[in-house]
Amino acid sequence: MKINPNVLRKKVIDMVVAKQSGHIGGAFSMAELTSVLYEDYDIGGKDKLILSKGHAVPIIYAVLHELGQISDDDLDLFREIDSPLQGHPDKLRLPLMDATTGSLGQGLSIAIGHSLGKDLRGEDGTVFCVLGDGELQEGQVWEALMYYPKTKLNNLICIIDWNKGQNDGYTKDFSIMYDNLEERISSFGWHTNLIDGHDMEQIRNIVNFNRDFSHLAEDDKPSCVILDTVKGKGVSFMEDPAWHCKVPTEEEYEIAMKELGV
Ligand SMILES: [Mg+2]
Repeated sequence: MKINPNVLRKKVIDMVVAKQSGHIGGAFSMAELTSVLYEDYDIGGKDKLILSKGHAVPIIYAVLHELGQISDDDLDLFREIDSPLQGHPDKLRLPLMDATTGSLGQGLSIAIGHSLGKDLRGEDGTVFCVLGDGELQEGQVWEALMYYPKTKLNNLICIIDWNKGQNDGYTKDFSIMYDNLEERISSFGWHTNLIDGHDMEQIRNIVNFNRDFSHLAEDDKPSCVILDTVKGKGVSFMEDPAWHCKVPTEEEYEIAMKELGV
C-alpha cells in the first residue's frame, strides 16, 4: 500500500491536539522513512523496527492506523494511563512494537540483540534501528557502535535521523557530533551513506541496496544510513527545535493542516 507521509503528519497533529501532549518535531522528520519501511518491509513480522528515539512513536501509531493495524478507538487511547498507545513505545502493552524504548541511547543495543538472535535461529529478515541525533550524546550508543562490526553479522541497518535538533535546542550547541557524522561513524567500522531523509526514492534505493548485503562482503562492514532531515518537516513554523514537544493552538492547527494538504 502506498503511504503519503503528510497523511501521517496530519494524524500525528490530531493525536497531539486531542491529548494536548506529544512529540511532533521528531515524528515529522522521520515521516518519509516510516512510509518507506512500512511500504517495503514486513515490520512487526520478520523485519523489526527498533525505534530508539521512542518519543517519535506518534508517527508509528499513524502508519499503523493508516494500514488498518490499529483502530480509531485505539488512537483515542494515545497517552492515556495504562493504554497500549503510550507516549513512548511499549512492547508489552502493544505487541505490534518490537521494543520498549524511550530512555534514549538503548535502542541500538536492543537491535543488536535481535540481530544476534536472528542469526542464532537462522531467521530471515532485517532489523532496522532508528536513532535520533541528540541521542548520540548517550554513551551506550557508542558502545554498541564499536561492538557490532566485530560480530560480522549483516542483518541490521542502523539509521540516524540527523534532524539537527533535540529537546533543548540545536544539537550543534550540545555536541561535536553535529559535524562530520559520517566520518565519525565510519571510524567505528561502519559503512555509511548520507542521504536526503525526505526523499522517499533515495531512502528506498539506499535501504534496499544496503539490505542486499552481498556487496558488503567486499568491505565486511555493517551499514549505517544517515538521513539529512529537518525537525518538524512539513509545516513551516514547526521546522524549529522548539516544536520537539509542543502543542499547536487552534489557529496554528488550521495553518498546519492547510500546509500539509492531502
Ligand atoms: Mg534530533
